[in-house]
Amino acid sequence: MKKIKKQSVRGLLEKWQKDFSVFVPSKASGSSQMAVWDGQDLAFLDRNRNTVVPPKANFLPNIEKMFGFRKEEDGYVLEPADEDAPRQLIFGIHPCDARAIAIIDMVFRDAYEDKYYLSRRQNTVLVGMACAAPYDNCFCTSLGFGPADATDVDIMLTDIGDSFVIEEITDRGKEAVAGAKDVVEATPADEKKAGEVKASARAMLSKEIDTDEIAKRLPAAFDDKSFWEEIAAKCVSCGICTFLCPTCYCFDINDEMLKDGSGARYRNWDCCSFAVYTRMPAENPREEKWRRVRQKVYHKYSFYPELFGIIGCTGCGRCIRQCPVNWDITETLNNLPAGSAARTEEKQKPS
Ligand code: SF4
Ligand code: SF4
Repeated sequence: MKKIKKQSVRGLLEKWQKDFSVFVPSKASGSSQMAVWDGQDLAFLDRNRNTVVPPKANFLPNIEKMFGFRKEEDGYVLEPADEDAPRQLIFGIHPCDARAIAIIDMVFRDAYEDKYYLSRRQNTVLVGMACAAPYDNCFCTSLGFGPADATDVDIMLTDIGDSFVIEEITDRGKEAVAGAKDVVEATPADEKKAGEVKASARAMLSKEIDTDEIAKRLPAAFDDKSFWEEIAAKCVSCGICTFLCPTCYCFDINDEMLKDGSGARYRNWDCCSFAVYTRMPAENPREEKWRRVRQKVYHKYSFYPELFGIIGCTGCGRCIRQCPVNWDITETLNNLPAGSAARTEEKQKPS
């Protein structure tokens, strides 16, 4: 392992700035999100908490231009948007958000190849930050990993007070650190301290779900309309829980056209909590709110495992922290009916 003094991190970021757009946790725009480092602010080095807007926005922006078009005499001519995204380095991504990127890779890389997403994904270095003080509503340990899991990052940092211990996880990570001034070998005492920080963070997590029990209960609970009506009663369908979920990836597509026939096609985040979502050619299959709330839970905990073999939730807790009516997905999951009261209803297909 290696280490760097916090007072020297500026130099490391400046080195990275020569090769990458360097993104850091920032509150400059009012909401906490990854933003291009201004070369000055280093307050994020001591914040060490998840941003409100998840880093999925660095790969799937909330709005992006897919291509432009203009009308010519014999039809429309397409003007492709830039396909090669600039190289970016995301500093301070937490393990749950890095796991979320790996989860949505399964849609944008494996289920089909989304050139917009993949261009950014392939040009990104993820510099992880082990959590030192998780929120009360984090529950990542229930999802098979933890607040210091380095599986999905290129470099992992652990805050040991005046320094960060550095673990180079991938070749891309090693390359990014190679030759960096002020990066030195960590001492056994540094590594011990890093281990203590990680163990302490893990011990702080008290929220839990039992994913095995949930998997057993979900099939029968699907048809329990009264349960879902009760669960959904206080939801105001604001969409915050899906927009801010690091694994939600739905988008809508719109064309904007001027009178002269020129314009552009955009895609923007969409949300299954909205009554107007999935307005398919014939109908909206989830007009009632309880169906939409049920969809959110099943997509993460049933359909995603069915399609990709992994739960589509990282336990980041954002949907709990940011919900205006305190809707808590873990309460729903922990209180799923065992099945005896289930009402028969036609089951929808995974989506
Ligand atoms: S954030 Fe809360 S109120 Fe808003 S859609 Fe989600 S569960 Fe409903
Ligand atoms: S469902 Fe909630 S806890 Fe799970 S990843 Fe999404 S925002 Fe985080």
